[in-house]
Amino acid sequence: MACIFCMIANKEIPSSVIYENDDVICFKDLKPVAPVHILIAPKKHYDDILDLASAEDGAETMSAIMSAISVVTELTGLEEGFRLINNCREFGGQTVMHVHFHLIGGMKISEKLL
Ligand code: AMP
Ligand code: ZN
Repeated sequence: MACIFCMIANKEIPSSVIYENDDVICFKDLKPVAPVHILIAPKKHYDDILDLASAEDGAETMSAIMSAISVVTELTGLEEGFRLINNCREFGGQTVMHVHFHLIGGMKISEKLL
């Protein structure tokens, strides 16, 4: 079955895009858990963060993701802080198997796992 985030990156299905460039797409999560909840994903498919880490172009892709985080943080007014989450594989609770980061903010997040 086709990957849903690849389909979003290829504009085959609609999404609320906040920012994109050649390498990265940033769009609103369908089920936000905070006033700001943006998903940041490389346009190229990697299953998860371990897949990305072992890829030849992994460092370059992570660098593009970090730059996008900086842009989106500014665009959405998260200067006071935010939480950045990556769920990896089954035990990490990953449900979409195309690597992505949740950028969550717009409120003071009180729950702490650690
Ligand atoms: P994860 O559980 O970490 O893999 O996160 C997957 C996220 O993708 C969830 O928060 C979903 O709400 C979100 N999601 C799934 N499908 C879509 C979609 N078509 N557009 C935007 N967000 C989506
Ligand atoms: Zn994909």
